Amino acid sequence: MDCKDLDIVPLKHWAGSGDYLVMAGPCSAESREQILETATQLAHDGRVSIFRAGIWKPRTRPGAFEGMGDAALEWMAEVKSLTGLLTAVEVGTPEHVEAALKHGIDVVWIGARTTVNPFIVKEIAEALRGTEIAVMVKNPVNPDPNLWMGAIERVYQVGIRRLAGIHRGFYFFKKSPWRNAPMWEIPIELKRICPRIPIITDPSHISGKPELIPGIAQKSLDLEMDGLMIEVHPDPVNALTDSAQQITPAVLSEILNSLKLRSRQPSSFDDTLERLRLEIDKLDQELLEILARRMNIIDEIGLYKKEKSITILQLKRWRQMLSERIETGTSLGLEEEFLTQILQLVHEESIRRQQLIMDNGRSNQTSKG
Ligand code: PEP
Ligand code: MN
Repeated sequence: MDCKDLDIVPLKHWAGSGDYLVMAGPCSAESREQILETATQLAHDGRVSIFRAGIWKPRTRPGAFEGMGDAALEWMAEVKSLTGLLTAVEVGTPEHVEAALKHGIDVVWIGARTTVNPFIVKEIAEALRGTEIAVMVKNPVNPDPNLWMGAIERVYQVGIRRLAGIHRGFYFFKKSPWRNAPMWEIPIELKRICPRIPIITDPSHISGKPELIPGIAQKSLDLEMDGLMIEVHPDPVNALTDSAQQITPAVLSEILNSLKLRSRQPSSFDDTLERLRLEIDKLDQELLEILARRMNIIDEIGLYKKEKSITILQLKRWRQMLSERIETGTSLGLEEEFLTQILQLVHEESIRRQQLIMDNGRSNQTSKG
């Protein structure tokens, strides 16, 4: 299956969203009052189109609140008829899917702890076969774009066309400012490979605390992600799950007010951007040609070293080169860390080529000249 050509229904055709989708609601449905109060306030804001609530909660460790289960599905149906908001719940088993379908839920999402398991994803996908329901697939807890893409493909294979990914960050054991590191390169890679899959960012589970939500939300817009899923609770401190990261509906409205929606498609009159991009294209072309020329010389040196039986890695020269290049680069306004990484990468590739020459008499590219 080529992810480039997936036949996906654009978000705005089914989620009633404008330029970007806003999905909000409590981490967990706790009571009918809590659900209806939150949904009413969110509907009042006017920018939220999907109401989310976890009703079967996948808990990392046993003993914590596991959600209100089927009873909460009735409250979600009430939200829908009272506010007109679309409703979304997390599903972790085929039974959850059946119950959600029976209660007219509009969107189901597959959680991060479920996406990691292809067997369960397959079972959930089978339960979705032949339905029109919308499905969102959260990234797996570990930073593996293929596992994420695989889950999306399994859902696509059963005929689901209202499909999106949710970027909720990636777990790391190491301490970091984030609850789950955003690692934007992963959703960007997913977009590169599957450009038609919309991606909703979940700043709540990425940041784990309210202060970091606005920054993540803005970054999501700047990186052309397609919407936001934010956890909202009328009384965050007393929430039964994820109390540290939930915000009130009023705070959500403030955050939405503060976001800057920058234009995605520069107009055809925007020739400044066009001119600058052409310059970048030209410079990149030169950069690649210079790199290729450098590698050709590396190969020549490799052949010489082989002939004279000289070792490939000459530590003294490498150290000296690195410090000289960093000095020159920093004087040109480039960051030391960036220079170190790029020079190391070029050096590693040079060693790899010379190693091939030592072993086979030529680097993989030598035959092409
Ligand atoms: C959630 O959205 O409430 C949830 C459980 O998230 P995740 O699967 O991203 O941990
Ligand atoms: Mn949560």
